[in-house]
Amino acid sequence: MKNIKTIFALSTVIAFGIFISCSSSSNPTPTTASGSVSITNVVQSKYKSAVTISTSGNSIVLKSNGTPDHVSPYWGVGNSLYEPPFTGQNLNPGIIGTQNYSMTIPTNPVEATTKEATALGPIGMALNGVAIYNDREGGNVPVDSNVLSSFDRAGAHPGPGNTYHYHCSGDFTGNDNANLIGFLRDGFPIYARKDNGGTYPADLDANGGHVGTTADFSTPIYHYHASNTAYLGSRFYILKSGSYHGTKGTFTF
Ligand SMILES: [Zn+2]
Ligand SMILES: [Zn+2]
Repeated sequence: MKNIKTIFALSTVIAFGIFISCSSSSNPTPTTASGSVSITNVVQSKYKSAVTISTSGNSIVLKSNGTPDHVSPYWGVGNSLYEPPFTGQNLNPGIIGTQNYSMTIPTNPVEATTKEATALGPIGMALNGVAIYNDREGGNVPVDSNVLSSFDRAGAHPGPGNTYHYHCSGDFTGNDNANLIGFLRDGFPIYARKDNGGTYPADLDANGGHVGTTADFSTPIYHYHASNTAYLGSRFYILKSGSYHGTKGTFTF
């Protein structure tokens, strides 16, 4: 009888313990979509030296001159990083110009209640300091075949003010792989077309992202992927369309 009582008492303790652990794991102390993941270490370790990084409170400030560290016809003949256009590429009149970029992002990005559409101009910064743009061009119209033909091997071209920018994945950032490309203005990272492990993500939301681990984040974090659809049948894949998942920070010139 005593043994039965002991067992009963013990099982009550165990059951209570399970109850406690269950209720604590359902507490709002999330590790995923709500954004308890700090990006600071990854930002500091993955951005190239051309990007100056400082932290202030809950913000990270990234400064760059916006020029790429790779070859492009848009450097202009005579530049050591000049390469001729590839067959079928129609250069626009711009060149690669030096900018004075400053992007401020949160150290712990969180999902926004209301998702804001991305707009023309810089929506993020690649690891080399080049601006990331969405799938639109001047007049806020989608990139068309004419614009596509102006892209270099990086999926980029200069815009007004000689602001060289990536619309697409390409030969130098990431493409058919799981490379980290950069961070958008809401602080969430953007990756190339594959997930870590070599598979194409099958559960992307309307904004091109999902929650999961990456080579850089062992704790699940929301991250964007480049589109896995060849844009207008071209060699290029749009980096980002639609809305921000989080709240965008500032990006000044
Ligand atoms: Zn453009
Ligand atoms: Zn992913």
